[in-house]
Amino acid sequence: MNETATAPAESKAPKAKVERPCHCARFTNEETGEATGCTKTTTREFAPGHDAKLKSLLIRAGAMGAEVRRVVDGMALTGDAVKAAEGYGFAHMVASGIERAHAKARAKAERAAARAAAKEKKESTGTDTVRAKVGRATYEGRLESSEFVYTVNGAERRTTKHQLV
Ligand SMILES: [Zn+2]
Repeated sequence: MNETATAPAESKAPKAKVERPCHCARFTNEETGEATGCTKTTTREFAPGHDAKLKSLLIRAGAMGAEVRRVVDGMALTGDAVKAAEGYGFAHMVASGIERAHAKARAKAERAAARAAAKEKKESTGTDTVRAKVGRATYEGRLESSEFVYTVNGAERRTTKHQLV
């Protein structure tokens, strides 16, 4: 490898501060065409704050399952968002940001499905009684927006921490 041989010589001499285009300008969301629109030059990889710009661009792309195009020296590479972040210090944050976005979308879909099921039940049975698990016990009750309302020993209780059964 030539890189290892030339590296010490390079670090001895004071580095010439060459301004190069900010790395964030290299990336485009293949599906939406979203890019940072950055025209800045910098002696580092990123203009100040632009690593964060790129990070959110990649998370948005990854969350929607879009591929990301990366153009380096006129050569385009296309791959998933996590792969595109490889080589940068924030790559793991892109991966966990995408994972969080997926978890959020799953939770939202589950809530919507539970609401739809409860609504359907109410329409088909004429009652809004639903059964839900609260902790380990299962109760009959009704749904009021995101709350499950049920009765224990004659006392009404409400919770958002329930699971329809
Ligand atoms: Zn930039």
